[in-house]
Amino acid sequence: MRCGCPQCGTYMIQSEGSELGCVCPDCLYRCKACLGTNTVISREQMLSMKKMANDIRDSSKKEG
Ligand SMILES: [Zn+2]
Ligand SMILES: [Zn+2]
Repeated sequence: MRCGCPQCGTYMIQSEGSELGCVCPDCLYRCKACLGTNTVISREQMLSMKKMANDIRDSSKKEG
């Protein structure tokens, strides 16, 4: 996973050591977006959300 630093736009490198993620060599900003934290919606969550939306649409369709 390659990330650009959100602060200065520098190409970030994989941080080595105990902390996972990547680190910006310029401002030392640490990125964890690529690790799948709660800021990123997982595929399963996305699918269940879509299913829910479809169910709502279906139930409202029955009228017409
Ligand atoms: Zn940076
Ligand atoms: Zn990253």
